[in-house]
Amino acid sequence: MTDASTATETKMTKSMEDIVALCKRRGFIFPASEIYGGINGFWDFGPLGIELKNNLRDAWWHDMVRCPPAGPDGEMLSIVGLDSSIIQNPKVWEASGHVGGFNDPMQTCRQCKKLFRADHVEEMVLESEWYQELSQIWPPKKIPSLDGLRHWARKNGKKSAPGLALVRDTNNVLQELEKIIKSTDDPGDVWASSNVLFGADCQIWPQDGVCPNCGGDLTEQRDFNLMFETHAGAVRDDANKVYLRPETAQGIFLNFKNVLDTSRVKVPFGIAQIGKAFRNEVTPRNYIFRSREFEQMEMEFFCHESEAKKLYEFWVQTRLDWWKSLGISSENLQRRDHDADELSHYSTACADIEYRYPFTAPGFGELEGIAHRGNYDLTQHQEHSGAKLAYFDQEKNERYLPHVIEPAAGLSRGVLVLLCEAYTPDPDRPSKVYMKFHPRMAPIKAAIFPLVAKEGMPEVAQKLYQELRTKYAVQLDIKQNIGKRYARMDEAGTPYCFTIDGQTLEDDTVTVRERDTLSQERINISQVATYLAEQIG
Ligand code: ATP
Repeated sequence: MTDASTATETKMTKSMEDIVALCKRRGFIFPASEIYGGINGFWDFGPLGIELKNNLRDAWWHDMVRCPPAGPDGEMLSIVGLDSSIIQNPKVWEASGHVGGFNDPMQTCRQCKKLFRADHVEEMVLESEWYQELSQIWPPKKIPSLDGLRHWARKNGKKSAPGLALVRDTNNVLQELEKIIKSTDDPGDVWASSNVLFGADCQIWPQDGVCPNCGGDLTEQRDFNLMFETHAGAVRDDANKVYLRPETAQGIFLNFKNVLDTSRVKVPFGIAQIGKAFRNEVTPRNYIFRSREFEQMEMEFFCHESEAKKLYEFWVQTRLDWWKSLGISSENLQRRDHDADELSHYSTACADIEYRYPFTAPGFGELEGIAHRGNYDLTQHQEHSGAKLAYFDQEKNERYLPHVIEPAAGLSRGVLVLLCEAYTPDPDRPSKVYMKFHPRMAPIKAAIFPLVAKEGMPEVAQKLYQELRTKYAVQLDIKQNIGKRYARMDEAGTPYCFTIDGQTLEDDTVTVRERDTLSQERINISQVATYLAEQIG
């Protein structure tokens, strides 16, 4: 996902901790079951968070289903919607390959018993507190101070890495290291032997056999199926075992024939779906980036094989442009084409749209994947179900299983991207930070403030609020001093604040404060709705 060695060295301008704190403080996102200590990998969206998520979801639905873009040759595209069940017949997941193959290689720590995704271990070690402390004491290619290591093992190491061989068995490990130091003049050779700190099994430093949490030994890799299981019906036996869907896409393939038979669509066309997906991720982390319950926005675009390549390129570009249209800057987005060895056996091409998250910077992490899936899924479901899923083209008198281009985006991950992108530190504001959401995404479009809660100002504000709220998500805030109210709205990312003051009572004008420039101008109160319509649409 990221170049871990550089990620730890890079000074991040936006810190994830600050973003998480703002999201908690302002009611965007809360840990699920917080009053019971939370539950790893699950999150709740608060009043502002759900508005933001709904805005992103509605924009996707509008721009994909209601008003899809023109196709690669300027033709009108037809895309219809679907809302399929989260639990399906378990045979679906056998056909799709998820029962047999939806596995992550996993390792367990022998000391603290925590589980890790094997391909995440190295990066997590590099990010861990204990590793960073140790690399201060023993920088690469230097001879370490044995006293420094002993001191660390007895003090900080006991807290941050109790499983590490150096901490568990300090004297023996340091004796071993002393022998190595005496046997060579080359600091590089000594450094290359630093694996003694981690125990007998370690080969290199840092390496993927060490627990990111406690420094202990990890087991061999074992496959772990990511699907959540439950039972449908009263009897909890294998015959009743069902799965929570790990992706929304399969529900689309299951309904391909239903849609074709009932919607008067013709290939090429798309079916789109937004909904929850569940993956029992081994190491949920990086806030809502990788959680166990999340939402996806997926579309399967069915086409003739001969058109698939062109449409694949079209969708990769269209999706990249779409994220930019929501205010995500080009420099924080990139297209990454999968190498041949990354592709599933049935897929001929796949590209990720990646974002530079604070925790991947200067590297990038996935936001959306666009896959050319061939006709693998329809073939599989046809074989496993026995249903005939071929499409008959009457004009060409040709029967075939359409190929598919799949843009698959994370809705929850998209919210994270909007939050990271919007977060803008500004030491000159009372709030020290503001959320620079694109007006289309902003949870609150405008706030209405009476300057003081007297002299008839609240009544005027209330009237304006009642007028605007029929169309827009607006807030009326009467209490506190005006600076604090602006600060709240800056943190909520509200693009406009309208203030009713003494002059309003004389000449019917209000001030408009613009979030990003902080500019203020006066407009007539009767023009406020038109003004908002022009700015926000
Ligand atoms: P990864 O390799 O990171 O596990 P993936 O390539 O398996 O992800 P897809 O199956 O292509 O992901 O899912 C499509 C989109 O769904 C991803 O681009 C991402 O935005 C989102 N997504 C996938 N897994 C998660 C998760 N655990 N939490 C939040 N969003 C997720």
